[in-house]
Amino acid sequence: MAERVSETCGPASFADVCVGYPVEGVFTYAVPDGIPVPAFSRVKVDFRGRTVTAFVLALHRDTPAGFEVKEIRSVIDESPIFDERLLDCARYVAENYFGSLGETLAMALPSGERPSKRYRHPFGPSASRAITLTGEQQSVYDAITTSFDSGAPFHLLHGITGSGKTEVYMEVARRFMGVGASVIYLVPEISLSSQIFERLHDVFGDDLIVYHSRLTAQQRLHNWMRFYSGDAKIAVGTRSAVFLQCPRLGAIIIDEEHDGSYKEHSTPRYNARRVAFYRCRKEGALLLMGSATPSVESLYAAERGLMKLHALKGRYGKAVLPEIEIVRLSSARPEAMLSTPLKLHTRRAIDGGLQAIYLLNRRGFAPFVVCGECSAVLECPQCSISLNFHSDGSMLCHYCGYQRRLPEACPACGAEKLEKVGSGTQRVEEVIAGTFRGSRIFRLDQDSSRKKDAIFELIDKMRAGEIDILLGTQMVAKGFDFHNVAVVGVILADIGLNFPDFRASERVFSLLLQVAGRGGRGDVPGRVIIQTLNEDHYVFGYLKNHDYYGFYRHELSVRRALAYPPFSRITRLLPRGPGDDVVEAAMARIAGVLREGLRGIENATVLGPAKAPLARIGGNYRHHVIIKARDIESIRPALRGAVAERLPRGVYLEIDVDPFDML
Ligand code: ADP
Ligand code: ZN
Repeated sequence: MAERVSETCGPASFADVCVGYPVEGVFTYAVPDGIPVPAFSRVKVDFRGRTVTAFVLALHRDTPAGFEVKEIRSVIDESPIFDERLLDCARYVAENYFGSLGETLAMALPSGERPSKRYRHPFGPSASRAITLTGEQQSVYDAITTSFDSGAPFHLLHGITGSGKTEVYMEVARRFMGVGASVIYLVPEISLSSQIFERLHDVFGDDLIVYHSRLTAQQRLHNWMRFYSGDAKIAVGTRSAVFLQCPRLGAIIIDEEHDGSYKEHSTPRYNARRVAFYRCRKEGALLLMGSATPSVESLYAAERGLMKLHALKGRYGKAVLPEIEIVRLSSARPEAMLSTPLKLHTRRAIDGGLQAIYLLNRRGFAPFVVCGECSAVLECPQCSISLNFHSDGSMLCHYCGYQRRLPEACPACGAEKLEKVGSGTQRVEEVIAGTFRGSRIFRLDQDSSRKKDAIFELIDKMRAGEIDILLGTQMVAKGFDFHNVAVVGVILADIGLNFPDFRASERVFSLLLQVAGRGGRGDVPGRVIIQTLNEDHYVFGYLKNHDYYGFYRHELSVRRALAYPPFSRITRLLPRGPGDDVVEAAMARIAGVLREGLRGIENATVLGPAKAPLARIGGNYRHHVIIKARDIESIRPALRGAVAERLPRGVYLEIDVDPFDML
């Protein structure tokens, strides 16, 4: 890169920029006469026939040889909006997740062009509430800060639901802000509709900015600049807030670290958790992640000494954890989906003026097959992943492509009682409404939550006791804090358990423990009833005892045996396009290049190609291969080769390192 020109030696003539496109490389443009262009700012340039946003990486006076230099069209920022540290972080992301530097910067930086001048929080005046930690919270706080001061930057807090993790986070944040450092506080997307922003604002007032996708581009830019300048010292936001810049980074806090929304789902598919690790290491900051159900990967990292582990074991105040009961369902028919215990407890709760929350995991997916006699689920012999039933009567593994006919009898016990599960959940809702006639049922799902007010309406109604049964998808499991919930019911726990994903058990365990945590939060004791066709599955034994560590140990042994993460890194390549044959052929070619590139590399396995579990989304057909390798570094050249493969028109290749979702 050319030598940088300082302000004092006169205006520069050229700017090296990268563009927010999937193209590699740095391009040189001329600086227009008399218009100052700051380094580390955004400009507009003509690029391949279009006007696009570009990021100024350097200024210089070396006239480029061999081509005609175009002028910068216009300047967006009058002063820098990032610096060398963000550039370094973006390079790390681009390299590790296979995006271009320009794409990565476009993702990391706000897109607004003029900061909204009058933007204010939607909250009332700042109240500056004081924090008083309990004894247990105080000792966790002391342990974290003391060990950070003696050189340990990475910390994991395992605290049961309602133990006051948020109070600890806030106190840690305050400590860093007290010495003039800035703090980034990450929350999952689901928290957009929760009370966390208000809670932080009560403590930090105008020192707080928010940063998430529901702000306008102008508001995001305004808040970015307040944090960048050091005017606001704490930022709370979703995934992309991990890129916020500040004069001196003190700490990054990641609430609900197990949550899938920390993973980006377009190129580059970074994980905010990994980016936070990288930044904290580089910038000497504290990383504090916490959860009631830490991810297997994080807990394993803590066990190996990469992070320090802390625990909060008691609920705040007088609340106690609810009792969990596992109930076996006799059939997968929708009419049989309300067990006697669930009906009885719900009836009793409603009659006593209390409330129930039902989790109905409706996420649409191809059905799987279970034996009505011995509860065995048909699995792939090589991948230990449930086979999915397709309408042509075949059973398919979506990892490796293994295929078989639907057998007449259960391969495990011989009974001719195989049942298809996973369809007909619509019908279940009707059954619930029919059973509790006259009761007030509120349904919360993806559609109803999109309207922001719907959530607040729900919260108000729940508090006022105007809802008897709150019925919903995953969303009801997270964050809600209602004090009169006597019953939590999980209609069919098996649906998530049999997703073709090696994290299926972990995700279900974590979801069920979180939803169980919605019960018994006030003076009313909670009762959790989890219904399943397969009560022998190992997750249920641990759930019953709220035994997170037992589950973790079991899950870890399964992962070790099959070399799934954290014992390997997984990468997924997925071409998509409008024609199934074309995509399949492209996939075959990419897989060929990949196998060639991986020849002689130990501990790297290619699974597939196979049709992706969601074989078609929005008119695009999807095929994939999964690469399991001990480390990413040794397979990176092969991945590069595959990514560089020329693809037919209309076919786009998605590359996902450490995918969270395998559908
Ligand atoms: P977690 O984040 O671990 O689920 P929260 O921080 O939300 O727990 O705490 C649960 C409830 O207990 C909240 O209503 C919170 O305000 C209250 N609480 C926890 N710790 C304290 C404390 N030290 N002082 C006052 N209230 C607390
Ligand atoms: Zn398989």
